[in-house]
Amino acid sequence: MKFIAKRPTPAALAVLRQATAHFPRRKKASDGLLPSAAHMKASPNSDHNTGFAVDLTHDPKHHIDCAVIYLKLKKDKRVKYLIFKGKIWSKQKGETKYTGSNQHEKHLHISIKDECGEDTSPWFPWLAKPKTINKVRAKFPKPLPKKKETKCRNSN
Ligand SMILES: [Zn+2]
Repeated sequence: MKFIAKRPTPAALAVLRQATAHFPRRKKASDGLLPSAAHMKASPNSDHNTGFAVDLTHDPKHHIDCAVIYLKLKKDKRVKYLIFKGKIWSKQKGETKYTGSNQHEKHLHISIKDECGEDTSPWFPWLAKPKTINKVRAKFPKPLPKKKETKCRNSN
């Protein structure tokens, strides 16, 4: 079992904050950083346990289209692997069918490489820079709910 982090890595947190800074009205229902106790038990090797993973809610109505982000983030050197809509992608293995029970229809899972946890450079560099006020607001969000077992079971 991996050690359990007390807080997410800055890189993982930056995904959600930057997404919110770009699109303050985006939905956050499936956002996630650290796991609940039940999630840890179900997925002891999940990157969520170490703070090196983040779930971003798919919300195309508010411009967070995870199908697009999935494709774009293949070029980001921090990404260990991505999961979205029944597909998993990593640089080593390319894209394959995702066989976990949670098919990730509502969120994009991003796992971050061990050496990249401190890297908070822009995750959405193809977008116009967010307004400063939105950046500040995104830094002080409401506390995130912890991942429930049912939501992310066997899904890393
Ligand atoms: Zn996840």
